Amino acid sequence: MKAIVFNGPYDFALKEIENPSCAADEVEIKVHMAGICGSDLALLHGRNPSVPYPIVPGHECMGKIVRTPADSTFKAGDRVTVFPAFGCRKCAACNAGHIPHCPQAKTVGVLRPGGCFTERIVAHTERVFLLPEQVEDDVGAMVEPTAVAVHANRRAALAKGAKIVVIGGGTIGLLIAQVAQAYGAQSVVVSEPNAGRQSLARQSGLDLICNPQDENLVDFVRDRIGMPDAVFDVVGSELTVKQSTELLRPNGLLILIAMPHGEGPGIPYHPIFQKELNVIGSRTYFWDDFTEAIQLLSDRRVRVRPMISEKLPLSRFAEGVELLEKQPEKYVKILISPLM
Ligand SMILES: [Zn+2]
Ligand SMILES: [Zn+2]
Repeated sequence: MKAIVFNGPYDFALKEIENPSCAADEVEIKVHMAGICGSDLALLHGRNPSVPYPIVPGHECMGKIVRTPADSTFKAGDRVTVFPAFGCRKCAACNAGHIPHCPQAKTVGVLRPGGCFTERIVAHTERVFLLPEQVEDDVGAMVEPTAVAVHANRRAALAKGAKIVVIGGGTIGLLIAQVAQAYGAQSVVVSEPNAGRQSLARQSGLDLICNPQDENLVDFVRDRIGMPDAVFDVVGSELTVKQSTELLRPNGLLILIAMPHGEGPGIPYHPIFQKELNVIGSRTYFWDDFTEAIQLLSDRRVRVRPMISEKLPLSRFAEGVELLEKQPEKYVKILISPLM
């Protein structure tokens, strides 16, 4: 079968590889759609030092089951998505479905071979989530990033009527803002300099949008909503962390979601101390965040279609990467389909 193989930084190709072998507790899935994610680009640029090259990347997928274990609750033809993180399957975190907290957790297609930019994958049945009919193939490939946004919102545990700011209007930022609205946030400001992404935010039902290059974000937020209860920083720069702590009300909450370049910014100690702020990290998701993401997409309470800029066949993966990197104003999420 065909697959995209990353041989090392800046070195990848469409290759013929062996079909995966399916263990007794695994299902085999024919991939229909797979999203290119920022972390795939990080892999490509060698920004992730622990990657076991060569590797087939890809961790955002939708597909159809072609083979199941004999006693499985799944059947051939089931439409599914796959939880990509993989733990030891023994520890307390794994048993609770809190896979990222397992000391041995690794994401398939990032730190573990077997990513989804290929025709077929296998997955342990516990990592496979059934998609209802109303979640179409392309939307199904967006369950994973939606789960990131669900997890961040659940960690924030904001009261209904909360006032929030989301810094960064890419896929994750826009999803966090939409999930916050679905959970009853009263006002949501999105800070995003890129005009194309601002219009996506509007199409996603968000109307308080600040262009931080034209307007001072702190003034914009103060004018429109006052002091926010929470800031989701999806950029993770020294500037955005500083702005976040400046914006927040006393005892407010800063949620750090961005994967920073290198060490990332330091802590602005003084405002955190002065205003008794709460600072938490939010990285990926738990099992039940996947269930919740599927429900929100199925109910159309989160809309991902505006973010899907393009669908390309596996053979045009390189073009997808180039579009994302060179034209971020036009391309937000690109889906790769081995069926095309
Ligand atoms: Zn991703
Ligand atoms: Zn574990």
